[in-house]
Amino acid sequence: MQYLNIHTHLSTGNPDEISVQNFIVGKDETIPRGLFSAGIHPWYLGENVDSLLEKLSKIVPNSNCFAVGECGLDRNIDTDLSLQTQVFTQQIQLAESLQKPVIVHCVRAFPELIALKKKLKVSVPMLVHGFNNNLQICEQLISNGFYISLGSALLKSDSNASKAIKKIPIKQLFLETDDKNHTIETIFMAASEHLGLGISQLQALMLESFSSFKS
Ligand SMILES: [Zn+2]
Repeated sequence: MQYLNIHTHLSTGNPDEISVQNFIVGKDETIPRGLFSAGIHPWYLGENVDSLLEKLSKIVPNSNCFAVGECGLDRNIDTDLSLQTQVFTQQIQLAESLQKPVIVHCVRAFPELIALKKKLKVSVPMLVHGFNNNLQICEQLISNGFYISLGSALLKSDSNASKAIKKIPIKQLFLETDDKNHTIETIFMAASEHLGLGISQLQALMLESFSSFKS
């Protein structure tokens, strides 16, 4: 059985792992060889957003491109939130037009994220990656149909992610390594302890969710 790593910035070459490697348009150079996601990250909006969007729209139809993202909203940076919202909206619309999921980066902008999903009547799955926020936000995301991916925060027993994991319906839960050097095995071990599920059981559940997530 394989480990599903729904979001990583590194290529591990681990045969026991199915990973979705992230490609940041405007920053990364080479499109990953396997399954990947591609998006314009709010940290790298740069001067010429239109050319980034044009570049992205040429990459996303690639059959190995599983999702659009990571993209989203970040209140911890100087870039104007209305510009971020505009670029995020265009990426959601691209994902909708190609019926691919969206991998979301969200920092201190959850009410805006939830409102945008409603306003745009998004039909494709939206996955909030690297979640490590409080239970109230977690519950709001779940009830609004978001998927949630947890990563290295699970390695700390008192983190928000460790407190939230049991509250997330298994069909809405994914695991990731993101840009960290931890292995996906380590993250699965932590999740399996928190959930009281065996590793192979967790592997099977994640792969099952992944196949329904894709269609
Ligand atoms: Zn990331």
